[in-house]
Amino acid sequence: MSLVIHRRSEQQELALANRAIKPRVYPGQQAGGALVAWLNDKSDDGSWLADSQQSSRKAVERVLEDTTIVCREYAKFSTEPEFYAAVKNGEIPASFWEARERWNRTMADFAHIPTIEPFNFYEGKRIAWSLAEHSPVGLIGMQLDWIVELIQEDALLKVRKCQLCANWYFARFEPQEFCSNLCRGKNHSRSDAFRQRRRKYMREYYRSKNPRGTELDPAARAEFVGTGPAHSEPHNE
Ligand SMILES: [Zn+2]
Repeated sequence: MSLVIHRRSEQQELALANRAIKPRVYPGQQAGGALVAWLNDKSDDGSWLADSQQSSRKAVERVLEDTTIVCREYAKFSTEPEFYAAVKNGEIPASFWEARERWNRTMADFAHIPTIEPFNFYEGKRIAWSLAEHSPVGLIGMQLDWIVELIQEDALLKVRKCQLCANWYFARFEPQEFCSNLCRGKNHSRSDAFRQRRRKYMREYYRSKNPRGTELDPAARAEFVGTGPAHSEPHNE
């Protein structure tokens, strides 16, 4: 009989260490993470299922868009009187009322029925709410549940679309605009490259207008370098 000494791999050590440090869970993170993962799952094998998933995704994105419009408007105020004062002053855009109307109409079909099932009952959840089988939004019931949970946890506005790669993400920080450091970096170097290209273009443009290298008078030079023909610039990608 041979004695095998099991040594923990680096990965196992890391997993143990991670378990020891309880990760911080942000409000809405669970629902937000699930929703984002579902929205980003674009596996398309051409099957009927993929087709129906695509139309479900569009439907969920529409609801999410309306929810974002409504929540963003509400977030501008901290009390109901403040909100109604803005209504009185005509400061609430029509897009808000339209989005809220569509939201209410969609959710009117989102009927839940209380059930007493053994599984939930013995788990301590005496009543479980299940989506009504005949519900027209039955196909996206789970996703609507996530959206409702995100609103309840005041985290709906953290579900955002990356400004560079258009992936959905759950923002950890308020001003976050990109899904990852990778996209943030890419965007930064893109605008950097754009500035460089513009500088080079303006230099060449200036040279072509002034082929013999003679100095233009300062006013004309300012016109070329300063304002320039920005509209006719080579397109940035
Ligand atoms: Zn991105």
